[in-house]
Amino acid sequence: MDNEARKLGDIPTEEFRKYGHQIVDWLANYFENLENYPVLSPIEPDWLKSRLPPSPPQAGEDLGDVLADVDKLIIPAVTHWNHPNFHGLFSTSTSAVGVFGEMFAAAFDMKAMLWRTSPASTELEDVVLDWLRQMMGLPDHFEGIIYDTASVSTMHAIAAAREKAGLSIREKGMGGRDDVPLLRVYCSEHVHSSIDKGVITLGLGLRSLRKIECNQRFEMIPENLDEAIHEDIAAGFKPICVIPTVGTTSTSSVDPINDIADICEKFGIWMHVDAAYAGSAAIIPEMKPHFKGWERADSIVVNPHKWLFTPFDLSVLYCKDLSILKEAFSLVAEYLKTGDEKTVKNGMDFGIQLGRRFRALKLWFVIRYFGVEGMVERLREHCRLARLFASWVEQSSDWELMAPVPFALVCFRATHGVASTDLNSLNERIMNEINSSRKAYLSHTKLNGNFTLRLSVGSIHVEEAHLAKVWGLLNDRLQAAAN
Ligand SMILES: *Cc1c(COP(=O)(O)O)cnc(C)c1O
Repeated sequence: MDNEARKLGDIPTEEFRKYGHQIVDWLANYFENLENYPVLSPIEPDWLKSRLPPSPPQAGEDLGDVLADVDKLIIPAVTHWNHPNFHGLFSTSTSAVGVFGEMFAAAFDMKAMLWRTSPASTELEDVVLDWLRQMMGLPDHFEGIIYDTASVSTMHAIAAAREKAGLSIREKGMGGRDDVPLLRVYCSEHVHSSIDKGVITLGLGLRSLRKIECNQRFEMIPENLDEAIHEDIAAGFKPICVIPTVGTTSTSSVDPINDIADICEKFGIWMHVDAAYAGSAAIIPEMKPHFKGWERADSIVVNPHKWLFTPFDLSVLYCKDLSILKEAFSLVAEYLKTGDEKTVKNGMDFGIQLGRRFRALKLWFVIRYFGVEGMVERLREHCRLARLFASWVEQSSDWELMAPVPFALVCFRATHGVASTDLNSLNERIMNEINSSRKAYLSHTKLNGNFTLRLSVGSIHVEEAHLAKVWGLLNDRLQAAAN
């Protein structure tokens, strides 16, 4: 490219076109050859840093050189979340079609703060979230708003609950007041750490979070919740929010939402349902029983970026009455007044962000391309594969299931007796050896002190053969450890 053209303005159209085609080809090959990559990046810490220049280039570089470095430097440092044998944490993957949505969103570079600055984003968000609401079978009084992550959605839900409690915290804050009692938020012992972070961020403090005991299936015990609330009220505390989970992070267990809703109703407490992972499964008709009572919630978080093939990030907070978020957060500076506030929805009113990414676009691509049926079929297959894997575990005398399998996560461990039967270190060793082989990625949790392997099924690329492969790896490692 000649230096004249490089001086000012953007990349020349011809060059954009040329590299654009090249990049799409690159990505097509990537998705096609995912299985040839190691699941976990093999690099040591600082491998990448030590290979990059410490200061930026003074003169512009050739895009071809940048792309070559993607191959040479970036790819080795990538852990491939899309790999069909990524079974750790929650297995999440994008669909290639979702990437198209991101391309457009990046190109439009809309900041969806006001309807005026971003009508497409504002209106598409409403429509797509209403589609998703219908897919999940939620009543039409639920209105949604998109944030980046479930952590942020849940923080906003707790903020809404706090606003509803009528303590004028928006104006007066919480410090230096003797008219604000200790506020209480309740969840089970198996919740995601985002709830802890939410109460930290909002200034409620970890002291305000009360974790309720679970039964043997890792589900919150409603009687204990009821008792805890009675106890706290008697002590002068103010319960503001209960957060049951459908699909806990540890085991994907399901708290008894309907019973918890009864308790919340009785005490007039906000119920926020954390369905960040499993909410997607609500689109599968036979999964409905797990969600009984969630329609009674004040708010629900669901993450399409987790198990609906949408590229990270896209989390949805559904509220029975979104206007409470507006009461908590709306602040219209002079330069943001457009005169149409009464007739349009301005995204900035519903949270701490001003500008918001055009995230609805990628979900719109995904839902339209697969259709509701296509999405249901894919999720149903993931659940079938998880149950199949669980049946292999159950049929083997060397392994045991450690928790029920309501969705597509299997918690299990080796029980095969090694000489000194320390099952915790045996299972940890098996997991570490598989992970460092980079052929598959598993993670773990601790259940009643027992080191437990977790196998999550969720990649859009996963097939039965991939589970057979992990099963083979597990048994090989067990044999090796036992000898
Ligand atoms: C993954 C997960 C979260 C957090 O998700 P982010 O979007 O990464 O913040 C919260 N709750 C549950 C149950 C989850 O599975």
